[in-house]
Amino acid sequence: MPPIINPKICNGCGLCVDLCPMDVLRINGKENVAQVIYPFECSHCGTCKFECESNSASAISMEFPFLGKPYKRIKY
Ligand code: SF4
Ligand code: SF4
Repeated sequence: MPPIINPKICNGCGLCVDLCPMDVLRINGKENVAQVIYPFECSHCGTCKFECESNSASAISMEFPFLGKPYKRIKY
């Protein structure tokens, strides 16, 4: 899942936009909040979420699809 941005918390600082390695995010000029523009390009690296939290807000939530779910063992 790509990040979900809470527009009530986002302060439009743009840090997530600057740091996203896949160029997924933009600042919506009208509302001054971050938006996911290219959701299918998201690599789920988590940079946006962690940097947003360390900066000031917790405006981003996301599920990490590859964590916490045990892989099935493959029997040979
Ligand atoms: S880093 Fe957080 S507060 Fe800043 S623009 Fe991105 S979502 Fe909004
Ligand atoms: S999880 Fe990584 S690739 Fe996806 S939007 Fe955030 S910074 Fe960009």
